[in-house]
Amino acid sequence: MLLMHDVYYENAPPYISNIFNLYRNKRPTRALRKTPHFIVPAKQSEKTRRGTVVSSISEWERDTLPDQLKTIPIKRTFKYHLKKHLFPKKTLIDTVHLNLDRQAEIVLNKTRCDFIFRYHKFQHQFNNVNPQCLCGFRSQTTQHLFFSCPLLLDLREQLALDLAGIPNFNINHYNKLNAKEKLDTLLYGGSTYKIETNKLIVTTTANFISLIVDYV
Ligand SMILES: [Zn+2]
Repeated sequence: MLLMHDVYYENAPPYISNIFNLYRNKRPTRALRKTPHFIVPAKQSEKTRRGTVVSSISEWERDTLPDQLKTIPIKRTFKYHLKKHLFPKKTLIDTVHLNLDRQAEIVLNKTRCDFIFRYHKFQHQFNNVNPQCLCGFRSQTTQHLFFSCPLLLDLREQLALDLAGIPNFNINHYNKLNAKEKLDTLLYGGSTYKIETNKLIVTTTANFISLIVDYV
């Protein structure tokens, strides 16, 4: 949703906004108060419908999101009210607070919006992109690379060591989570952790992704 705010107020980096702009409503929004900002084609394939871009737009356009929220142009204020409205417990750390180098920040943001690996590009109908992973698995998704790709065993081992070294990180609890919950923890932090711990988790993840992209 913060991503949609960035996109709507044209604060998102071009590599992200370009893809959303394909869906921007070209008609002026002033004429009708209820005119949607973004429109996704009614006819979509299953893979498009499940993609992050389309689901983000659907969330932004959902009736339950109050119009007043969308009219807040200042991201910090928007985020504050959105958190109260939608995600009372969800931790959201903006990547600008993470002391990441530019490359790590970019790959983290791309991973957060499912727009980095082969399967994602395939979903967005990039020409000639084969969704297969280099290991032969049919879909090179984030979950595959993070948790099961046999080519990344060493990197994953290092990630586990790095995570275990983070003060207050509960590795036993983490190991019991399912893949989706683990991925959420890695990309956004865990809801039970303090902000400093979450910053370290997310920074560790960003560096891990930077290494992955060199391999794949
Ligand atoms: Zn693989």
